[in-house]
Amino acid sequence: MATQYVTCPRCSTQNSALNSRCLNCGTAMPVSPMPMQHMPQQVKLPGADKKIAAGICGILLGGFGVHKFVLGYQNEGIILLSAYLIGLVITMITCGVGVFIPVAVGIVGLVEGIIYLTKSDEEFVQTYIVNKKPWF
Ligand SMILES: [Zn+2]
Repeated sequence: MATQYVTCPRCSTQNSALNSRCLNCGTAMPVSPMPMQHMPQQVKLPGADKKIAAGICGILLGGFGVHKFVLGYQNEGIILLSAYLIGLVITMITCGVGVFIPVAVGIVGLVEGIIYLTKSDEEFVQTYIVNKKPWF
């Protein structure tokens, strides 16, 4: 078991938790060690690191659904990718008339990517990691 230390409330000397009084100033020590100070602002929210990756993938590769896969949304990613590829086929069959389909799919990804990037880390994690909001 590692030696625990207690910080003296008066002079801030580190004392062994076994001491009942501060070795430096003699102040009575708290019975239990002071809990570690938590600094929530500095702790990265789990999932927040996906925000930038998902946002950029949505903007650049939106039609391929890459940003959905980044977020772990397999079904939505497959839907986007399928719609994009089917749209490309329709575009070829119709000699370009159907081009609005892959373009629209790409715009969906673009808009979603922008939405991801405009959210705060907290909002992003709450919306897409906790609540698993599938679209937008
Ligand atoms: Zn002291």
